[in-house]
Amino acid sequence: MPTFAMKLNFQIVIFKKERIIMKKYVCDLCGWEYDPEVGVPEQGIEPGTAFEDLPEDFECPLCGVGKDQFSPED
Ligand SMILES: [Zn+2]
Repeated sequence: MPTFAMKLNFQIVIFKKERIIMKKYVCDLCGWEYDPEVGVPEQGIEPGTAFEDLPEDFECPLCGVGKDQFSPED
């Protein structure tokens, strides 16, 4: 069943891609951007950390507001 196998493989590729892509978030106040691929090494946030996985006490490195002041980047 080559057709079935190809379709299954295609779905796995899409699944992996969606897991790798993490949204960037932008600070509403100062415009600082959180890039999950970079993290915030100064705050001990390792590269590859999704915004959702940041500690609840995370603060914007520039203006110091909390996570609730960030919006997902389009
Ligand atoms: Zn800020």
